Order: sequence, then structure tokens, then C-alpha cells
Amino acid sequence: MAGSSPGDIVGEVLRSALAEVLSTPWLAGLLAVITLGKLVQLGPAMVHGGHGRDPRRTFSRAEKAEFLERAGHRCEHHSWLLGRCRGTEALQADHVHPHSRGGATDVLNGQALCRRHNKQKSDRPPWRWELNRLARRRESYFPPGTPTAVLRYGPPVPDPVEV
Ligand SMILES: [Zn+2]
Repeated sequence: MAGSSPGDIVGEVLRSALAEVLSTPWLAGLLAVITLGKLVQLGPAMVHGGHGRDPRRTFSRAEKAEFLERAGHRCEHHSWLLGRCRGTEALQADHVHPHSRGGATDVLNGQALCRRHNKQKSDRPPWRWELNRLARRRESYFPPGTPTAVLRYGPPVPDPVEV
């Protein structure tokens, strides 16, 4: 044996520390809880397809004004039976792809909803066909030339270190 390199020594120390932890039931339990917590933290990142939560949650006044304008100051909810909602009062700026699921706080991921339909809306990310349907319907009421497609995610959030 030609003596251990520093890396080996560190590995040895870690291994014996881990052995120590695992032989102590409450420490092993704590380790399991921490590991589980990390997995729970990582879960949403996987659900988001690598998109973390947009650090900004609420739309600005200007963005909200833009939503309402292009929607003709009317709720954008549609039902199969009744067609487009007639609500024009107290409209709210809503994330089409929910913010909690990685949806961007961006005009391209926004829609105008009345209070009732915003409340009714679930936290589920919309299916592709639902977005296509919304885009098709918007063609009938958005001003010409206004993009109707929904963009779920904004650009990836830059690494703060690189800024
Ligand atoms: Zn409505």
C-alpha cells in the first residue's frame, strides 16, 4: 500500500459517518425524511418538464389591461352548452397553464376570466387540444394580428450566478 490519497481519506470518513448514522435508528430515520423531502422538492420540477416556477406570480396592470382589451372586456370561458360566458364585470387575469404548475406570468399565457370561472378553474395543466381550442375560438374575438396561441412557459429562468 502506497498510502491513501486525500480523496480516499474523505471517502473513508464519509463512509464511517454514514455507517454511524445508519446504526443509529433515529438518525437513519432523519436521513430518510430529508431524502424524501428532497424528492418531493424535485417532483414538481419534473412535472414542469424542467421549468421551475416563474418567480413573478401576478400580472402587471399593463398586462391585465392588455388581456381585457384583446378579449373585448369579456370572460374567455366557454362551455359546451352555452358558448362563451357573458361575464364582463370584475374580470381577472388568469394563467391558462397554472402558475403553480410552471406556467409563465406572461401575456401569452394569460386569459381574462370572470370571478366565477377563475374560481371554478382547477389547478390542472390544460391539455394540448384545450389550448388549440382556445386559440381557435380567440380568432373570432381577438383583434386581427393579435397572437391567439398560448405559450405555457417563458424562457428558462437564467442562473443568477451568470447574470
Ligand atoms: Zn365567465
